[in-house]
Amino acid sequence: MNHLRCRTCGQTYNPNEPVWRCTCGGLLDLHFQAEFPLDRIQARPPDLWRYREALPLESDDHIIIIALGEGFTPLLPVWIGDKSIWIKQEHLFPTGSYKDRGAAMLISKSAELGISRVVEDSSGNAGCAVAAYCARAGMECDIYVPADTSAAKLAQIQMYGATLHKIAGSREDTARAVLMAAEQYYYASHSWNPFFFHGTKTFAYEVCEQLGWTAPDTIILPVGNGTLLLGVDIGMSELRNAGIIPQKPKLIAVQAAHCSPLAQRFFKPDSEITSPQPTIAEGIAIAEPIRGEQILDAVRNSGGTFITVSEDEIKTALIQMGTQGFYIEPTAAATIAGIQRYLATAPPDEVIVSVFTGHGLKATEKILKFL
Ligand SMILES: *Cc1c(COP(=O)(O)O)cnc(C)c1O
Ligand SMILES: [Zn+2]
Repeated sequence: MNHLRCRTCGQTYNPNEPVWRCTCGGLLDLHFQAEFPLDRIQARPPDLWRYREALPLESDDHIIIIALGEGFTPLLPVWIGDKSIWIKQEHLFPTGSYKDRGAAMLISKSAELGISRVVEDSSGNAGCAVAAYCARAGMECDIYVPADTSAAKLAQIQMYGATLHKIAGSREDTARAVLMAAEQYYYASHSWNPFFFHGTKTFAYEVCEQLGWTAPDTIILPVGNGTLLLGVDIGMSELRNAGIIPQKPKLIAVQAAHCSPLAQRFFKPDSEITSPQPTIAEGIAIAEPIRGEQILDAVRNSGGTFITVSEDEIKTALIQMGTQGFYIEPTAAATIAGIQRYLATAPPDEVIVSVFTGHGLKATEKILKFL
């Protein structure tokens, strides 16, 4: 029942083997039967491990060692223009971004697999999260980042004791460098490794539980590699298959106009993609998302769409959130700018959920430039 399956050739693997990619080079998905015993769930502490029967771990042994109290972030109503939207406060995670959901799950699984050293590449927040949980697990960790990553994130990764590799060039150059290292060590990748998505899926469980075990009509999410969007899609599918919610919400995917390969493919599949320009939304500046097809399918099948936002819209949204008492990073503000655009043509009376993905303290140097 429980297996990893290649999206390209269909080959299957035992999830207790340390594989992160098919021998054919294809992406793997984890097929897993999630269960939701609501009485038991609600009797447990408010963290993401309360959904234990929906998490693909053989035992609790490694959770206990690595847990940092992650999950069950507040779902708060926030004014966006004249409408109040439910915003999940994911910047309040132990390392300052929702990436802790995926890292807590993946590093617990890595410990269960007996792995002692992992490699990961990131534009910052995934590297911080993987480095923190490796520190908890006593695992060695090498993080590859683009050389222009925010200084605060570089400091954070090093403080957790990870070995930092700064790679000159684009985000894709960093991805190439880590693939070489991944021939030798386990690749704790937030885009390749299917266990990461079985951590981020807990966002969907928490939202539904916090709304009284109902699903919102619409979820508005940022998209670079799609670690949150694909996790939410998995989580909502599992809740629907278990009969907890009648149908999955519509997914609205937000990209920065300066780096919007998926939005372009969504609206103009036959046109050439314009080359990316720098954006202050560094966390979603992914020119070649490896799960691009999967993201496009998830958005399309949900009846959703893509929205792109300009640099000015991102800055305005960032400042507006600050004046309401929320200090978030510019990447997180891109999503808020996307909500503003969505609301201009949204059907009335929808229940909408969105997210603050990262903390403002991550991007102090960039934010100083706006003051
Ligand atoms: C990772 C991240 C995102 C979403 O990026 P994906 O590449 O789609 O996973 C959004 N905001 C912040 C702050 C992030 O760290
Ligand atoms: Zn394959």
